[in-house]
Order: sequence, then structure tokens, then C-alpha cells
Amino acid sequence: MGFLKYVIAGIIYVTLLSLSYGQNTDKLIMVIDPGHGGIDTGAVGVNGVFEKDIVLSIAKKIDSLNANLFDDRFEIYLTRYRDTLISLSDRSELAKKLNADIFISIHCNKAINRTASGTEVFIHPKSELQAEESAYLGFTIQKGLANVLGIKNRDVKFGNFQVLRDNHNSSAVILLELGFLSQTDEAIYLSQEESQNAIALVILQSIVKTLLL
Ligand SMILES: [Zn+2]
Repeated sequence: MGFLKYVIAGIIYVTLLSLSYGQNTDKLIMVIDPGHGGIDTGAVGVNGVFEKDIVLSIAKKIDSLNANLFDDRFEIYLTRYRDTLISLSDRSELAKKLNADIFISIHCNKAINRTASGTEVFIHPKSELQAEESAYLGFTIQKGLANVLGIKNRDVKFGNFQVLRDNHNSSAVILLELGFLSQTDEAIYLSQEESQNAIALVILQSIVKTLLL
């Protein structure tokens, strides 16, 4: 995985370079929602991995990268920090209470067709502004995951998910499906800690690119 290390080093360099130009003092509030939890495992991978564990791990990595690498650029809250089941309404209620600027629900996909692969982003906008910001954020994250990590881009779509439907307040609201656990290569890739770190970094870098520069 030597190549991946160079890619990550490159991203870190570009990030530090871009942050040195930023003079933004107001922190954006970001709620990251790792899907499922507790008795709700979410999708089960072909390798036996649970969606709930992968998405929690990636959400935590975004949180710690923000603190360690991005100098706490964002004020980040997770809807769950442990393996517990939170109701869908509580997840969007948290974003509402915090007056979150960004809400990202993280999931992994599965399909009967075991060759299906790639990332999907869903939006369910409540206003023209939310549609614009959400779609742009979704496209940027997908483009980053495709260009840097080679994960296929399956586009931004409309999805009638409750966590999106209930969120009227945040500027950008997306549900990110990070790949298919029903596809062997992606299930293995998403299970690896090194890949999870790379995905978390690309997501965070894409958010900085979209909203702060
Ligand atoms: Zn899910």
C-alpha cells in the first residue's frame, strides 16, 4: 500500500497549503450520522462485516482527523459514538438543536446484483439553496473518492430518507452510500483501517474544498 501513503501525503500537503490561506474564524457545525447501530446491523458484507461498524469507524476517523490534522476547523458532533441504535427522528433532531450547517449520514450499500459497486449520494432538499449546496457537496465528495481512491461514482440522486426529509435547517444535507458490501472487493476495501482513514480524509478534504475556500 506504498502508493496510498503517497496519495495521503499529497492530500495532507494540499490541505495544509490551502488552510494556510484561509482566514475563516467562524466554525461550521457538522453533524455526522453513522447509520444503524445496536441490534440494527445495517447491511452485512459478503465477508461478514457489518455496515454499522464500518460507518461508525469512518465517522470517528473524520472527527479525529478534524481535530488532529485540520486544527478543529469544524465543530463536529456524531449522532452516535458507540454501537447503539438511535431513532431516525433523534438523528435529525440533533442537527436541528445544534443548528448544524452540514449534516452527513454515512451508510454502505448492498444489492442483489453482486457486481454493483461505487458511491451514491442522496439528497432530499427543502429549498433551492439546500439543493444547490447539498448537490455540490455530494459531487465534490464523490469526485474526490473517485479521483483519489478510484471508487466508482454512481452520482447524486434524490432519495426519500427520513434523516434527509426531516432536515429543514442545515445548508447541506446528504446521505452518503460508501460502496457495496455485497461486492467482494468493496466489502474488503471498506473493512480495512487504512482505507477507512483514506476515505475519511477525502471526505473531510472535500468538505473544506466545498464550503470554506
Ligand atoms: Zn444503511
